[in-house]
Amino acid sequence: MLKAVHRYGVEEIDEEIPAGKIKPDSVGDPIVNSGLIAIKLLTDKEVYNCSKGDLKKASDKLVKLYLTPAWYKEIQSIFPNSTYVQAARNYKREEKSKEFLYELIDGIDEVDKSNDYCIFCGNPAYKRRDGKPFVKTQIPLIGSSDFTNFFPSFKNGIDVCARCALAVQFAPQLFYKTGGKPSAINCNNEDVMLVFGRECIEYINRKMVLNAFKSKDTSGIFDEGFKSPQNALFHLAYKLSVNYKTLLNDNEEIMIYRIDNFNQNPAGVSIYKLPNNVFRFVIMLMKSPEYRRTWYDLLSRHYRVKEGTKSGLTIWKVNYNRIHDSLLNNRSIVWTFKDDKIKKSTVPWIIVERYMELVRDMNKKRIGAIKNLADKIATCIEETNNKRRVNDIVSAKDLSAFRNQLRLVFRDWQKLGKDGPMITFDEYISTIIPEDYSGWREIRDLIVIRLYERLHDMLSSSEENESEGGEK
Ligand SMILES: [Zn+2]
Repeated sequence: MLKAVHRYGVEEIDEEIPAGKIKPDSVGDPIVNSGLIAIKLLTDKEVYNCSKGDLKKASDKLVKLYLTPAWYKEIQSIFPNSTYVQAARNYKREEKSKEFLYELIDGIDEVDKSNDYCIFCGNPAYKRRDGKPFVKTQIPLIGSSDFTNFFPSFKNGIDVCARCALAVQFAPQLFYKTGGKPSAINCNNEDVMLVFGRECIEYINRKMVLNAFKSKDTSGIFDEGFKSPQNALFHLAYKLSVNYKTLLNDNEEIMIYRIDNFNQNPAGVSIYKLPNNVFRFVIMLMKSPEYRRTWYDLLSRHYRVKEGTKSGLTIWKVNYNRIHDSLLNNRSIVWTFKDDKIKKSTVPWIIVERYMELVRDMNKKRIGAIKNLADKIATCIEETNNKRRVNDIVSAKDLSAFRNQLRLVFRDWQKLGKDGPMITFDEYISTIIPEDYSGWREIRDLIVIRLYERLHDMLSSSEENESEGGEK
């Protein structure tokens, strides 16, 4: 069975494709890929098995959909001035649109001896019968992040093959709405794209049955009400991890390409990426109902809510979340794993550990060493009954103050008459605080999280010995 491999860079397919059939291989372009998957779902056939008749039938339905008032406004921003949305009086939109699509379908196996190649897949480019070039009217200006401007100076359009041009026409049906804008979704796991695509098609079918697309107030594109693209990205990851975890292979990443400004902005697109390491962390969180609850609780503490926000809006769809933003921008969220006011960790240590390992790329040995040291510090604080040490560590403002606090704990440890040092010098330098280590705050926070977890009862009990403290 011929199968497209949807992983960038490994898409060589040697099998022969019968003439007149559409090739299934992923081209690495989010819009073309979405379109190929839409065709597969709409025809219920492997794309390379679709006959011209199948494709024309699917195209007829597509035109019917795009001409509805709800879709009209979507298409205006995706394919401005195209046959689907021509406003000229007496313009036969349905007829012209079908004509355009049928021409592409018939052009799929036409071999043109030109020297121009499709910018998406590298096959020979298609020459339109009217001699006109492909422009943003047919192909939205967002092929890939590498192309902010498609047009080489000596050309007035782009080179694209009939297959890719046709796929692009179908792509909007698998778009997703973020903040009111059409957004192409891409994932390097085809199974994920298929389940996502099915949801989009189900949405469209449901609205069709209800005649909802007769109103321009209905969103044509699948819309779950997400205003923030970051939250939408995480929502997709949470949903996939909970509902479709057996489809996931741990290599996934998801991208959202958000189309902006009716194609007027030369960049035209904002790109949001959920990298694989963050996705794996999400999968880990979602696999346990308990971790999931803990995680959602943690998120709920970090939505930015402005005063006077209208009630009734769903915060998790609409509001900026600092944790999501930090995860997407490679900033540490370790500080959110503790609550200094009530001296408690907000997540169990296992989540902290997995976060450090998966997202912060810290090796297990180092995480283990930090945990060991924190556990010994906890023992020392318990045995000396000096909980003020915890506050002193929490409030260390710079690296030298932090080092000094650790030194004081090491001294407490010696005073207790323990065998051997709390930590060897080598281990201290290599795993805890390398010289001039800029990430020291993260290490401090890790130690504090563990101390809160170990010493919570002691720290939350009466504050009476707060003032006694140990000598400085
Ligand atoms: Zn192509």
